[in-house]
Amino acid sequence: MDNDGNSGLDDVHLWPMRYDLHSHSKASDGHYTPEELVALAQKKGVEVLALTDHDTSAGVSQAVAAGRKLRMHVVSGIELSCLWHGNQIHIVGLSINCGAPELQALEKSQAEKRDARAREIGMRLEKHGFKDAYENTKAMAAPGASITRGNYSSYLFKVGAGPTEEYCFSHYLDKGKPAYVAPVWPDLETIVKTVLAAGGIPVLAHPSRYQLNNNWVLRLVRDFKNCGGEAMEVSSAMQSFSERELLTKIANKHELLCSCGSDFHHEKTNLDLGIDLSIPEGGTPVWKSPKFRLEC
Ligand code: AMP
Ligand code: MN
Ligand code: MN
Ligand code: MN
Repeated sequence: MDNDGNSGLDDVHLWPMRYDLHSHSKASDGHYTPEELVALAQKKGVEVLALTDHDTSAGVSQAVAAGRKLRMHVVSGIELSCLWHGNQIHIVGLSINCGAPELQALEKSQAEKRDARAREIGMRLEKHGFKDAYENTKAMAAPGASITRGNYSSYLFKVGAGPTEEYCFSHYLDKGKPAYVAPVWPDLETIVKTVLAAGGIPVLAHPSRYQLNNNWVLRLVRDFKNCGGEAMEVSSAMQSFSERELLTKIANKHELLCSCGSDFHHEKTNLDLGIDLSIPEGGTPVWKSPKFRLEC
């Protein structure tokens, strides 16, 4: 569908479209292939879906092909990891050109870092009795997938290491736990600039989920904006309406557009597809950006 200019789809519909601009597939730590994810999103009432796998855009072309077949709108995306004052921060890139050389180079170096870290996590888990943890975890995702601690928590849960994935994560993979390996991601500015170089919209992902106090969240938003950030997620899953309103106020203060996304990985978590992710009144939705583009 043609979507040039900043009209956005809402202008041609009598009711607001249902956007979900943050989701994961087997190209990283989601449980569904991009095709299955697009079909499931459609079944759950999502009308515009962005695939935003961790540090890889490898699943986007499959999601777009599925979108064409099922007549579902797909936005190209990625969720990039960076370090800011020692905290792991996630920047979503929306409407990225996946083939941009700057982005391709970053994806390659992130993949090398992820593989080295995943091997180290695997070795530590072996010491706790989980034989071939690295190989078995990799086998659950797509070939060449970006392996995160999310993949490991799914693996640990599958082999019966705990009653839930969250339990496995907090007992083995969280900071201070036996298989925790500190990441070595690039800084915030490098990541934001790479999204911009790929023609994408840099979006600060889930600002309330970093265990930062309010002052630090405000510092993060300010630094993100100063690096060239253009939007922030104000509506996610597992969130009160008052939190969405507060985040929208912060976005407005810093002249950032507002995004929304469930961060869906699979059905065993509370981050679900198809939930109401509407943006509070007064916020400017990210799909009003002239850069926002539907691949199909
Ligand atoms: P990483 O980028 O390798 O540090 O892994 C981060 C991923 O781990 C997130 O994207 C989630 O998918 C997953 N994760 C984070 N916290 C938890 C948790 N408490 N329980 C289960 N999975 C989690
Ligand atoms: Mn994230
Ligand atoms: Mn994840
Ligand atoms: Mn995510």
